[in-house]
Amino acid sequence: MLILTKIYFFDKSGQKSLYCHIMTEKSYKIYTLGCKVNQYDSGRLAQLLTERGFVSKESGAALVVVNTCAVTKTAIAKGKRMLAQARKENPRAKIVLAGCWPKVYGSQAIPADLVYDSRDWRGLIKEVEGWFQTANLVDIHNPLSLNQDRSRYFLKIQDGCNQFCSYCVIPYARGPLVSRTEKEILAEIRQALKSGYQEIVLSGIHLGRYGQDTKTDLISLLKKILAIKKNFRLRLSSIEIIEIDDALIKLMVKDRRLCRHLHIPLQAGSDQILKLMNRPYSQKYFVKRVKEIKKALPDIAISTDIIVGFPKETRKDFLESYNLAKKLQLSRLHVFSFSAHEKTKAFSLTPRVKPEEIKKRSAELRKLSVSLEDEYQKKIIKKYRGQKLAVIVERQKGEYYLGKSEYYVDFWFRPEQKKKISIGQLFDLTL
Ligand code: SF4
Repeated sequence: MLILTKIYFFDKSGQKSLYCHIMTEKSYKIYTLGCKVNQYDSGRLAQLLTERGFVSKESGAALVVVNTCAVTKTAIAKGKRMLAQARKENPRAKIVLAGCWPKVYGSQAIPADLVYDSRDWRGLIKEVEGWFQTANLVDIHNPLSLNQDRSRYFLKIQDGCNQFCSYCVIPYARGPLVSRTEKEILAEIRQALKSGYQEIVLSGIHLGRYGQDTKTDLISLLKKILAIKKNFRLRLSSIEIIEIDDALIKLMVKDRRLCRHLHIPLQAGSDQILKLMNRPYSQKYFVKRVKEIKKALPDIAISTDIIVGFPKETRKDFLESYNLAKKLQLSRLHVFSFSAHEKTKAFSLTPRVKPEEIKKRSAELRKLSVSLEDEYQKKIIKKYRGQKLAVIVERQKGEYYLGKSEYYVDFWFRPEQKKKISIGQLFDLTL
């Protein structure tokens, strides 16, 4: 976007001359879709752009980055809609498309000025800076405030995945597993804590495999983070059942700063379907391990992902998923309807489950999730009745605040006395 700046000069006789100076405004807007890793990537890009003198704008920005997702067909459709919206809201912007969509489907057919890999934001910035002529650096006192969530700090510790589950496009989109160094992660955590964050969410595409490529592991990293003696809590965004070892459970028992919530993707409860999905565990193993975790940590929240309507899924297979979630009293179910990606092995599997049947089964599971969530919430309220439960303050509406407990159960509350409460603060709530 061009800005015309008028500059007047006066000579000794008082004669006025007008100069017009053309400069390019360095403003940006980032549109983000998809997982926590994408959210983190967008936050990081915002931080780097600000460091280079770009200012964030709600509309009419000169640079637009659309960070897309390709995990389902719906996500791709959303990405297309978001791209159209970005053009409408920023009619003269240069558009950069990033994220999984162009990586999976190629960049040829995508109408953008530039397609870029989100793993190399610094390269992207070098490229786009050529489009903008002025470069006043902005002094940022608190770059971490650009994290996408004001209440919790999402920190990406690794990217990519080597697992190749048969339905998943992520290994094609994000490539093999790459871990960040412990040093870099610890420095970022220290800075986040200094900026006032009190909950750090460790996120990644395949979190449990952190360090496999750098000769370390998740436990070693967790111990180093917990060695920081500050009042904060730490949450794992999602972890596979085979990667929850005894050392992790022991650490969760010992250090109350590790949130008692694990999101463990089940995907299917039937062994036949798990095998077709290339998931590395059986129904028996999943049940046994969850029972062991619950024995060590009786109040823990365990949520999961379940895919409905995978090819060859019979009613009996579906009921195995349903009954397993119910029997294990999981705290929440994220239900995904199967959608086939051309790039994945599952694309050629038949017979496919009819869309009406997928819809029906998904509705059954979502209904189950509501009652499981309800039961779990009652359990936590009963346990903490009359006692203090720490919540991270997420939002304020009038005199009321919304807080998230370590169990991922949210509470609206009104503080008794007029206390100053800030977003992101750990607050002791009496139930
Ligand atoms: S573990 Fe499976 S589902 Fe998860 S990112 Fe890797 S391939 Fe996809």
